[in-house]
Amino acid sequence: MIQIKDLHKSYHMGSNSLHVLKGINFDVKEGELVSIMGSSGSGKSTLLNILGMLDEADEGSYVLDDVAIKNLNEKVAAKYRNEFLGFIFQSFNLINYKTAVDNVALPMYYKGMARKERVEKAYHYLEKVGLADWSHHLPSELSGGQKQRVAIARALASEPKVLLADEPTGALDSKTSYEVMDLIQGINDEGKTILVVTHEDDIAQMTKRIVNLKDGIIIDDSLVEQVRAQQYV
Ligand code: ADP
Ligand code: MG
Repeated sequence: MIQIKDLHKSYHMGSNSLHVLKGINFDVKEGELVSIMGSSGSGKSTLLNILGMLDEADEGSYVLDDVAIKNLNEKVAAKYRNEFLGFIFQSFNLINYKTAVDNVALPMYYKGMARKERVEKAYHYLEKVGLADWSHHLPSELSGGQKQRVAIARALASEPKVLLADEPTGALDSKTSYEVMDLIQGINDEGKTILVVTHEDDIAQMTKRIVNLKDGIIIDDSLVEQVRAQQYV
């Protein structure tokens, strides 16, 4: 599903530059649930943003679902991003003045889907994340965990091949974090390929493979015995 070879990325600020990714190699197969672990500043978000086509590497290659992601014009890039990728962020990124169902339906509006179809899909995915009864509530009326569920429903509604989550539990307490991980594990059980960035070891242990990033290189990449979040929720 994903093949990355010798990826490099630097940030330039005036005459200073910061070499953040220093030759990253890894592949992700369809159906994997992988965590990218590392301390703050280790380059996790930089890597995830490149995987998410929100940013481009300086060197190296990235192949997503057999498509080489390089020098695509913005229109083509947006098309692949919408078709292949779903995003989940620490801060949820919901629109405050829209209800849960409208938040979930919005990306489908931008894809040109008819109103009836996108609303039906939005209800379907809200039900899937356990929020059928909260469809008409605003984000301000939802708990943190519920907001993240709405964001997960929104990401799923576009039926992406890969879900990318950047610190999805970073703003949540432990119990709520495990509930969100239980949902993510359930989505992976159905076959979805998922990458989770986290700096928390207990969250990483709930994936099936941990890629450890330090100072811009992968220092370890191991399969793990997945801890089921269900036992903590
Ligand atoms: P992580 O997600 O692991 O905390 P990041 O990928 O966000 O790490 O950042 C890696 C390093 O790159 C950090 O030192 C950060 O300050 C720096 N950095 C991230 N984004 C930018 C940017 N847009 N411009 C300059 N420096 C950046
Ligand atoms: Mg980060």
